[in-house]
Amino acid sequence: MKQFDFLVLGSGIAGLSFALKVAPFGRVAIITKKDRAESNTNYAQGGIAAVTSKEDSFEQHVRDTLEAGAGLCKEAVVRTIIEEGPARITELIELGMHFSEREQSNPGGGRELDLGKEGGHSRRRILHAKDITGREIERALLAAIAEQSQIEIFENHFAIDLITSQKLGLAGPNRCFGVYVLDKAAREVETFAAPVTILATGGCGKVYLYTTNPDIATGDGVAMAYRAGAAVANMEFIQFHPTCLYHPRAKSFLISEAVRGEGGVLKTIEGREFMDHYHPLKSLAPRDIVARAIDTEMKKSGSDHVLLDITHKPAAFIIDRFPNIYQTCLSFGIDMTKEPVPVVPAAHYQCGGVVTNLDGESGIGGLYAAGEVACTGLHGANRLASNSLLEALVCAHRAAVRVTANKEPAVVSGRDTPGAALPSPIPQIPPWHSGKANNPDEMVVVAHNWDEIRRLMWDYVGIVRTNKRLQRAQKRLANLQDEIREYYWDFIVTSDLLELRNIATVSELIVASALRRPESRGLNYNLDYPNPDPNLAQRDTVLRRAGRAN
Ligand SMILES: Cc1cc2nc3c(=O)[nH]c(=O)nc-3n(C[C@H](O)[C@H](O)[C@H](O)COP(=O)(O)OP(=O)(O)OC[C@H]3O[C@@H](n4cnc5c(N)ncnc54)[C@H](O)[C@@H]3O)c2cc1C
Repeated sequence: MKQFDFLVLGSGIAGLSFALKVAPFGRVAIITKKDRAESNTNYAQGGIAAVTSKEDSFEQHVRDTLEAGAGLCKEAVVRTIIEEGPARITELIELGMHFSEREQSNPGGGRELDLGKEGGHSRRRILHAKDITGREIERALLAAIAEQSQIEIFENHFAIDLITSQKLGLAGPNRCFGVYVLDKAAREVETFAAPVTILATGGCGKVYLYTTNPDIATGDGVAMAYRAGAAVANMEFIQFHPTCLYHPRAKSFLISEAVRGEGGVLKTIEGREFMDHYHPLKSLAPRDIVARAIDTEMKKSGSDHVLLDITHKPAAFIIDRFPNIYQTCLSFGIDMTKEPVPVVPAAHYQCGGVVTNLDGESGIGGLYAAGEVACTGLHGANRLASNSLLEALVCAHRAAVRVTANKEPAVVSGRDTPGAALPSPIPQIPPWHSGKANNPDEMVVVAHNWDEIRRLMWDYVGIVRTNKRLQRAQKRLANLQDEIREYYWDFIVTSDLLELRNIATVSELIVASALRRPESRGLNYNLDYPNPDPNLAQRDTVLRRAGRAN
């Protein structure tokens, strides 16, 4: 058994910033299932929303967030996260993060942060590093982590299940003691124990056939927490990004909302603008409205994509502002300075997740969650663009402050092996028991079930839902779950099998949550109930596993 003071599951913005802040207080293990930089964070293009300009105000950012959240945000949470944002941005800059700057408009005014504008924001407030903001965040955080000897990163280590008192059959309130982890290279399951475990495992885009998310986004944290008995909320609110590059060879490449923020216009394949029929903000309307409008136009015309046109802007501006998008499109033979880019909507962001307060506390002792895996109440029924990196930064910080309150930094206390002094007793934890079967012929079942779940979620539980489609999805998922359970306990665990088990669980949670919300609100659009029900405003959909956790 490996013992640490802090276990961090995931190496995106939430996990890395938490690890950096707790490192002075003890030994930290970062467990991450692929390379350390591979995360949703690494692909974020648009930037981080924060109030840093005199023309902006906390009040306006709060108002925009509440407006997007369609009556389901928790206002106190929104206010705290937005008001604490600027301090966290300053820390990121001090750490070495380079945000894009521009010359001030008044002569001799020097340089200032170049603030971008995105859908739903009434002001320019998006801090960005060109169109590779996430890559720059990961670079800066990983460089700072490399300086910290108390932090050990375990790459290619897959967190399987949380170890809780309930799972061990202990009496008293449920408490987390650590996690079982598959070392993918050694093909062995190890036990990691610590008094504090934080889920920073990101979202679940891979549940859907089309997604902007990289392969890591299989909802593992939500599935693990649910199995452990934590409350999971608002999983019906999956944000579909309106503009993913449509090309047979392009996998999950996002065309940032900032392209529309800088003047890009949506058109049908015949070149007709259509967003004026759907919203006064036209192409810059909130994402759910844009995604549904595109879905409707595609269904009307029978086409499998629409167009995003920014050719009216100077080529030099486009190439400078969107170097990554420009080059990637060019590599597929599309010159966005001269021709419109073909785009389709794709699953992008999980607004719900493990229920936490602002300090990341999950309701299970010793278990915290921050970032996309968590549901704090910031996003409500729809996330305002670029509020997610902000939430991850602020809440990871608050969780770090919470778990280190009343602790002395290890350096000050003179402990040379800080991990040796665990503040709470860790009980006897049995080793992981795995099935022994290893039949390569049967791997086809795993691959088939993966595809089946992702397609049925796309077809039945996508941008526009109906009760009938949801019920059909529920039945299919129940059958698939039976098959997966049978397979799971017999066979040696692999990351494909573990992810299949998790996408099945998360899909069930999304469907069950959508069926429990008889209204259309924010991202949950159901043709059987096309309007919001005022009685359901401020009412979260909370699911908790019945019976004993495993
Ligand atoms: C293409 C794209 C563009 C985006 N653009 C923006 C933007 O401009 N602004 C914005 O605010 N948001 C944006 N988002 C959303 C934002 O990037 C994410 O919400 C945010 O980065 C999530 O950070 P995180 O730390 O919670 O999770 P992630 O960054 O996704 O990190 C999750 C980590 O957990 C690890 N992990 C997962 N499961 C396991 C497991 N079982 N065991 C071990 N490790 C595991 C992963 O390998 C990864 O290291 C974008 C997302 C995408 C996909």
